Amino acid sequence: MEMLQDVKKRVYRFGNKATDGNSKMKNLLGGKGANLAEMSSIGIPVPPGFTITTDVCTEYNLLGQETVIEMIKEEVEESISNIESFMGTSFGDKNNPLLVSVRSGARVSMPGMMDTVLNLGMNDEVVEGLAKKTNNEPFAWDSYRRFIQMYGGVVLGMKPASKEDIDPFEEIMEHLKEKRGIHLDTEFTIQDLKDLVYDFKDTVKKRTGHDFPTNPWEQLWGAIIAVFNSWNGDRAVYYRNIHGYPANWGTAVNVQAMVYGNMGDNSGTGVCFTRDAGTGENVFNGEYLINAQGEDVVAGVRTPQQITKLGSERWAELAKVEEDDRAANYPSLQELMPSIFKELDYYQGTLEKHYRDMQDMEFTIQDGKLWILQTRNGKRTGAAMVKIAVDLLKEKMIDEKEAILLLEANKLDELLHPIFDPSALKRSHVIAQGLPASPGAATGKIVFFADEANKYKNTILVRIETSPEDLEGMNIAKGILTARGGMTSHAAVVARGMGKCCISGAGALKINYKNRTLTVDDHEYHEGDWISLNGSTGNIIEGKVATMEPELSGEFAEVMKLADKYAIMKVRTNADSPKDAKVARSFGAQGIGLTRTEHMFFEVDRIKAMREMILADTVKGRKQALEDLLPMQRADFEGIFKEMEGLSVTIRLLDPPLHEFVPHQLATQKELAEDMHISLQAVKNKVAELEEFNPMLGHRGCRLGNTYPEITEMQTRAIIEAAINLKERGVVCKPEIMVPLVGTVKEFETQEQIIRATANKIFEERNDTIEFLIGTMIEVPRAALMADLIAEKADFFSFGTNDLTQMTFGYSRDDAGKFLPIYLKKGILKVDPFEVLDQEGVGQLVKMGTERGRSTKPNLKVGICGEHGGEPSSVEFCYKTGMDYVSCSPYRVPIARLVSAQAAIKATL
Ligand code: ADP
Ligand code: MG
Ligand code: MG
Repeated sequence: MEMLQDVKKRVYRFGNKATDGNSKMKNLLGGKGANLAEMSSIGIPVPPGFTITTDVCTEYNLLGQETVIEMIKEEVEESISNIESFMGTSFGDKNNPLLVSVRSGARVSMPGMMDTVLNLGMNDEVVEGLAKKTNNEPFAWDSYRRFIQMYGGVVLGMKPASKEDIDPFEEIMEHLKEKRGIHLDTEFTIQDLKDLVYDFKDTVKKRTGHDFPTNPWEQLWGAIIAVFNSWNGDRAVYYRNIHGYPANWGTAVNVQAMVYGNMGDNSGTGVCFTRDAGTGENVFNGEYLINAQGEDVVAGVRTPQQITKLGSERWAELAKVEEDDRAANYPSLQELMPSIFKELDYYQGTLEKHYRDMQDMEFTIQDGKLWILQTRNGKRTGAAMVKIAVDLLKEKMIDEKEAILLLEANKLDELLHPIFDPSALKRSHVIAQGLPASPGAATGKIVFFADEANKYKNTILVRIETSPEDLEGMNIAKGILTARGGMTSHAAVVARGMGKCCISGAGALKINYKNRTLTVDDHEYHEGDWISLNGSTGNIIEGKVATMEPELSGEFAEVMKLADKYAIMKVRTNADSPKDAKVARSFGAQGIGLTRTEHMFFEVDRIKAMREMILADTVKGRKQALEDLLPMQRADFEGIFKEMEGLSVTIRLLDPPLHEFVPHQLATQKELAEDMHISLQAVKNKVAELEEFNPMLGHRGCRLGNTYPEITEMQTRAIIEAAINLKERGVVCKPEIMVPLVGTVKEFETQEQIIRATANKIFEERNDTIEFLIGTMIEVPRAALMADLIAEKADFFSFGTNDLTQMTFGYSRDDAGKFLPIYLKKGILKVDPFEVLDQEGVGQLVKMGTERGRSTKPNLKVGICGEHGGEPSSVEFCYKTGMDYVSCSPYRVPIARLVSAQAAIKATL
């Protein structure tokens, strides 16, 4: 045991070509750590450092601080001396100090969700030594004040707790700026910086009751533990939850020698992308600031400048900055530091080729030398995702399978969503323009605080700038608008990740949080006023602008074609009308997996006939009413069959409890009584009679058709006659009749006999036949258990996973709203099982049902028609289960097609 403990490696070094880790070790080293190792191994200049593994974070959560520090102490100390020998400096040495950053890094990137501390190792003596050594006093003191600020926030818990609280350090800085009549952090004098350090430490003492720690080792352990803790911080937990990342992944900790972008005008820091993350255009782009450190670019404190000249010119046009002004005051890095730019351009090309995907990089220039601090596969919009995949394929950087796997299925959704109607847009009034940070069209009412994003149905979150605390609100709002920040600001990056429309850096906006007003020029807008955002142009528009369906790009068609080439499992759609069927077919649906006949009955002219049928006391009366319904149903089916010409169409027989169809309001009850020439009381009695204690488990599904066979007869007639009518017109239809809610073989058999008898009768009447299938939904757990016997009779199975989930969990879908949200919040359930198929539990029934069914009928057709049929992880599960198809709502069809292809490709890897 002891031996094993000793063997386990918990700290991995990087810094030159001989690194311990590589990019494949993301689970252990976190994405940041793995990529830092990979970059150093291929000769990219990365400041040396080491990574404490994600396993240690999990150990920390189990065993606590003391045990874990004991476990890694030796490895950490050795790794620090390793950095020291690289850098020729030493940790805590006041004449020649090594300062480090302590950075978090989970296996997936969670921008801004966890914490980082820069310039660690500083104290009153070290700052003097650093000043002397670099001959740069302002730099040394600027670094010191930044360190106390970050350490105070991250490690000592001095971050503002809520939106009303002010960051204590920011407050001190603001005061001083006001007093000195300056605006920028870079304008502080040495004395100012010294005063700030003094005041900062004083505040720390007052707030925490302790002196600011001066011992670098104490600082280091404090920061390492704080990073571990940040994995369980509110922001990180929320982010994890919306993305479904499990708590036991943990975060790694990266400790790395500092390089300084704040050493003066020959230094700087920036963020860049190898391609445009908004559009996918193949242009290198990014932003930087001279004499700045760390997050300065992202934080939006100063207006960042563009990296390339092209980018700078495009920016100037949007920001309405004249060329002279631009060249003098906001030059690109390409113009300002041409040789650094060239080097950076070379690295971005190298990294993109190496990772074979668009990269998002961080860099720092220290006194004329370039360092790369991070690279990762960049977050991008749905449109950019599709374009980049197609372009990389054309550039032969990746092959077809890789191109398909590069796509994130859910993001296709963005491409299918409405855009502004061009004619409405022409008439609209643009009030200001910002940066087109994340494309899309959003219309909503103004709110100023993230936690009020659900105050109205559609909201636009308007902020001076956003921060990670705003995440939840950003997710709810339809669009995000910020007055500050560039294309790489927090708002921009997060919005692109969410596929949410965002405009950032709209400098003309004056936002007053206290009065809840937005002022542009002289016009004041208030909370609750409508505005619209065009995330593709950066235009901010007054009022509500009409939207319309988007046109799909050529690249979209290309990736979908590619997906179909590799997909094995088919994708059908759930469609109740010819219109839905048409939309779905244009999205590539390969048939219909579920037509719910009841939806047709709710239309005005039909509901009456339906009600008469339900209220009828005799079979004769019921048949009479059904006869009125027949032509309407038949016409609907003809319409649907026509849209789906040549493809299979599954139609489900009447399913919901009848009380859903009867009127519950007095006025409508009266009307019905008059129409039917019966007393109001008779109507009331019937409505009361239909009342059920538990309608979801009541008189519904095939229980209807088995108690009122004439309903099944009528529906079968409508289906078969529609098919024959079309056949006569030369349209090929493939009807599949589906019996809902079967639990016993006999239930199915009884329905099957009615269907066959009716069909045969029609064949005789028409002197013609049509091929059709009769199958069943598997949605009652008993049906999954009895699947082998049911399959002897049924031609196909379709898993109705909504009901199956409801009955397996015993959660009433109609009442789950009372406890599901709480279950999710408390982590009792990881995800909503009505949204994401519960593969562990309900999935067993799906697997068992499929296997048992095919044990007696090897060629049994199997599909799924619950809401899960369009949810990526569930679709992948269906493929693994061996289903023939999934069926989902029209707008999910492209997503399911892509996942089907990805699942097939993954199975061959
Ligand atoms: P996040 O995961 O939130 O991006 P990072 O760990 O990347 O946080 O760090 C925050 C900022 O500090 C980034 O801009 C990064 O480039 C910068 N930074 C981190 N470590 C160093 C370092 N050793 N030297 C200089 N800058 C650093
Ligand atoms: Mg970073
Ligand atoms: Mg059902």
